[in-house]
Amino acid sequence: MASRTKSKLNGAKYPFRVGRSRTGLGIFATEPIKKGTFIVEYKGPLLNNEQCEKVDNKYLFEVNARWTIDGSPRKNVARYINHSCRGNADTYILRTHQIKIRAVKNIAAGDEITYDYGKDHFNAYIKPHGCRCDKCREKRRKERAEVRAANARKRKRLARKQAQGAQRGA
Ligand SMILES: [Zn+2]
Repeated sequence: MASRTKSKLNGAKYPFRVGRSRTGLGIFATEPIKKGTFIVEYKGPLLNNEQCEKVDNKYLFEVNARWTIDGSPRKNVARYINHSCRGNADTYILRTHQIKIRAVKNIAAGDEITYDYGKDHFNAYIKPHGCRCDKCREKRRKERAEVRAANARKRKRLARKQAQGAQRGA
């Protein structure tokens, strides 16, 4: 049977811990989390549009056309969850003001928990320096492999041509 290990953060118990990830800090499951299970709430001061205009940080989470949650306080442990274009979690909004995060896949102990931050955040903060999620790394790895294969074909063609040229010259 899988062991259940809760970790303590800011006095509360969670099924995950904060740890080192590829992009700095990240959130890692400390016990298996079943698909569909609530993981953590994204908490922070609720700002209306006017208040929101005066704040600028990358933890602003737009709830709807009128309200935004400022998730920058350190006690909002959900702020450590990294973006992935193919995450194992997603967000849903409850009673118009609560942002909750749940598993959309079965998550194993030790797995990093990630969700898709959405297009606006991606374009503003992630795209400029390149996304480092598994999906994007895999895509870049494939692209590099294709370039290598194309270069190899080119070299072969060239070698064949040179060999033919040498035969003719002989
Ligand atoms: Zn990505």
